[in-house]
Formats: sequence, C-alpha cells, structure tokens
Amino acid sequence: MAVIGFIGLGHMGGPMSTNLVKAGHTVKGFDLSAEALQAAADHGVTVVDSATEAATEVDAVITMLPGGQHLLDCYGDLLAAVSPGTLLIDSSTVDVADARKAHELAAEAGFDSVDAPVSGGTAGAEAGTLTFMVGGSEDAYRRAEPILEPMARKAIHCGGAGNGQVTKMCNNLILGASMIAVGEAFVLGEQLGLSNQALYDVASVSTGQCWSLTTNCPVPDMVSTSRANHGYEPGFAAALMLKDLKLAVSAAEQSGTDAEIGRLATEVYQRFNDEGGGGYDFGAVINSIRQRSGD
Ligand code: NAD
Repeated sequence: MAVIGFIGLGHMGGPMSTNLVKAGHTVKGFDLSAEALQAAADHGVTVVDSATEAATEVDAVITMLPGGQHLLDCYGDLLAAVSPGTLLIDSSTVDVADARKAHELAAEAGFDSVDAPVSGGTAGAEAGTLTFMVGGSEDAYRRAEPILEPMARKAIHCGGAGNGQVTKMCNNLILGASMIAVGEAFVLGEQLGLSNQALYDVASVSTGQCWSLTTNCPVPDMVSTSRANHGYEPGFAAALMLKDLKLAVSAAEQSGTDAEIGRLATEVYQRFNDEGGGGYDFGAVINSIRQRSGD
C-alpha cells in the first residue's frame, strides 16, 4: 500500500481521497478550507498543515485544484520539499499550456509527472468510477495506474505531457454542444406540440442518441440518472462547463482551429451563468432556452 499526498479536498478531491483510504492507502491531505479538512479527516484522511507537508515522504502527490494558476503556485511552493522518486499526478482541469508548464517544472526538479484530468463528476468521484485521461511518459502512466485504480473505472493513456487535458477539453466541447442541442430539440418539440416522452422514445434509439440525452436528459423523469430529476442539483455544474468550454475555445484559438460550435456553446453557457445558472447542473441550460423561447 502506498502513502499518497492529496492537495485539494473539495467536491471531487474529498471523495477521491476517501476511495484511496478505503483501498488501504495512507492519505496525507491538505486543503485551504477547514471544512474540507474536517470532512476528509472524518473519512480517514490524515490531515496536515500545508501542501508541502502533504507532499513530503510520500510515494505520489495528487493535486485536485480549481485551476492552472493554483496548480503552478502549488508546485512552485512544494517541489523543493518533495522526496526523490515521488510521482506527481495532477487531476485538476487546467489549460493545456499550464499543464505542460507543470510537467516542465516537475521534470526540472527531477520528478515523473502525469496530467490526469477526470470525467464522471462528483457521482463518479464518490463511486470510484471516474475516467482518467492521462498525459505523460509511458513509464509515468504505468506508475500512476495502480494509484488511480481505486478512484477509476478507466485510466486511458492519451499521449505525452498535457494530452490528458487536450482529451478532456475535446470531450467536454462535445458534451457542452450536445447538451445545448438536446435542450433546443426538446424546446422546439414543445413549441410545436410534441410530447417530451415521444421525442425521448425516438431520439434515444435513433441517430440523435448521446450521453446528454440518455444519461443526463435535461427533461425530468425520462431517465433515472438525470440531475433534472433532482432540481438540477449538480452533477456537473454549469459554471464548470463554462470553464471547460473557455479552455477549449482558448486552445482552439491558439492552435488555429475553427471551433465555431465551441464558441457558440461558450456564449450560451456564459449567458446561462450570467443569469445565475452557474450552480445548477449544466443540463439546466434547457430552462434558459425555454425562457427565451417565450414559454
Ligand atoms: P472545489 O472548489 O470543490 O475543490 C477545490 C479545492 O481546492 C477547494 O476545497 C479549495 O479550498 C482547494 N484549494 C484551492 N487552492 C488550494 C491550495 N493552494 N492548496 C490546497 N487546497 C486548495 O472544486 P472541485 O469541484 O472539487 O473541482 C476540482 C477540479 O476538478 C477542478 O479543476 C474542476 O474543473 C475539476 N472537475 C470537477 C468536476 C466536478 O463535477 N466538480 C468534474 C470534473 C473535473
């Protein structure tokens, strides 16, 4: 069993660290929030007083932080204190450029690292069924696999440094766009007198089938797994969808990719966030579409 440092014990990091404890690992956890620390302690995490302490004398350090600047600041603080041979795993969702910078900092300090962002939301974090998209060397990936295992349904090696983040933003570009399309289709059907059930029954077994329809349908009572059945409590919050779409659009601009639907989806989620929807599941965007359609 390994000793693992875990920095960032929030909505995702909290349950992820709990699953590592359940698997028999010793987890040294740190978060800036006293509440997050207390919750982690209640689940068997050994809480410590600083990120540096969490990263000292451990086999691996996992970071699960809000964004790229948090990650780079954190690595800046702790890399000098990390013991030789420690594997660095970042599971936060960050800009590809920041992820590659973090790999560079780790390599300069002599450490193997992987970017390993996740898909599956808080439900996946709790159930230990996240998908990890891993970027880094083959060796670093092989070392990360057994550490990720108690938190994962799948860990897929997506290529070199930063490619986990590239994969994540491409996946979420599809997800954000498809949720808007599903929402528009239901509202269009409603406006024209079609029942939601009829549209669901056909589209769910036809060419309109997608995760946004058959797993997280934005209309309540169509599919048991949807957050729409729970007042759109996230799930995957619209604020995080906006964050990921912005990362995708920024990467598209930097790489010269014409991601037109990505830009439009970002505008839609920006407007939904401005309307106060950021704390709801991203499927709640259907209510904004419905409102602007005069219902
Ligand atoms: P969160 O805000 O709940 O948790 C982040 C935690 O990091 C907070 O508890 C915060 O106090 C802590 N933190 C910030 N700076 C710190 C520092 N310097 N040292 C220690 N702790 C620090 O966010 P979350 O929902 O757990 O998301 C974490 C990451 O996972 C984000 O990058 C997010 O985009 C990504 N993500 C989230 C979801 C989701 O459904 N919530 C899904 C996939 C990916």
